[in-house]
Amino acid sequence: MKIHNFSAGPCILPQEVLNEAAESIKNFNQLGLSLIEISHRSKDFVNVMEEARSLVKELLNLPDRFDVLFLQGGASLGFYTAAINLLPEGGRASYIDSGTWANKAVKEAKLLGQIDVIGSSKADNYKAIPAFDIPHEDSAYLHYTSNNTIFGTQFQGTPEVEVPLVADMSSDIFSRTFDPEPFHLIYAGAQKNMGPAGTVMYAFDRTQIGKTNRTIPSYLDLAVHASKDSMFNTPPVFSVYVTMLTLKWMKSLGGIGVIQERNEAKSKLIYEEIDRNSLFEGHAELSSRSHMNATFQLIDETHATRFDALCKEAGISGLKGHRSVGGYRASMYNALPIESVQVLVDVMKHLEQKQ
Ligand SMILES: *Cc1c(COP(=O)(O)O)cnc(C)c1O
Repeated sequence: MKIHNFSAGPCILPQEVLNEAAESIKNFNQLGLSLIEISHRSKDFVNVMEEARSLVKELLNLPDRFDVLFLQGGASLGFYTAAINLLPEGGRASYIDSGTWANKAVKEAKLLGQIDVIGSSKADNYKAIPAFDIPHEDSAYLHYTSNNTIFGTQFQGTPEVEVPLVADMSSDIFSRTFDPEPFHLIYAGAQKNMGPAGTVMYAFDRTQIGKTNRTIPSYLDLAVHASKDSMFNTPPVFSVYVTMLTLKWMKSLGGIGVIQERNEAKSKLIYEEIDRNSLFEGHAELSSRSHMNATFQLIDETHATRFDALCKEAGISGLKGHRSVGGYRASMYNALPIESVQVLVDVMKHLEQKQ
């Protein structure tokens, strides 16, 4: 039976990417060796790393002053890495608290300086992207989380402020186009919309780092990694390889503009059904809804057993909501086909008709 994978992360990857990765695990580039048993300094792997980095630049339309790295530690280490590279000793930065991950970013940055939380929707269980104050003019940057994976809310566009931007785009990178100009740093864990777990992508303006007057441990220093072309130490070769294949797949579809249209069609389909169907209600406020993660619940929980059984019968997987929200969460990352969303919508309609 075909499985419709709505998992929030790690999550669905394109089938052709999985097929090629499976082959390369056995025999990479006809070398008679596995991808994961060759030197990361071999030409075959260096080419993978270079292709992955250059595809990011191409797909995101990054200006020449940007560098791209694939490191480890996940976005969770990215919270601290971002701050230690961009928040000067004795300086301050502004943060928007729009969800669990945004809140964790604040916690790590506070270890390094004064953090002004200029907006928060915590009191409202993060149902919406909060309104926020103008960042202090001495803010080194404004940090925000573009898509709140757990609560299903998303910034509908780039915040317009006078200070540079730093963003955790873990769960919506490559899902829509945006202008990279106002950013000093973008980081994203691979396992939501880019590849398997194990690597985190950093894209940053190289002219803006190295100015904090701090002693930075080598592994956390973006300048160190950039000077070594993302090969300072052994990179997570498998994750980078599969990410490279996924980036190639995105390019073959026509790039991020085309992908954005696909994603908008998918989210329109699910939200129209959530709003139409008398048995369900959405979690996120309408104006903050995410195109990547749709959060919703049954108005009457007694239908849950029947709905869960129908989902299972239809091959729907990974729909359970995060424990801090409850209900359901349909994650619709780039690789999820619209047919899978249609299957879910049909199950929701079917449940309503049975009442
Ligand atoms: C999943 C997620 C994280 C955490 O990523 P790890 O790679 O597990 O550290 C951070 N931010 C956002 C927005 C996420 O969705």
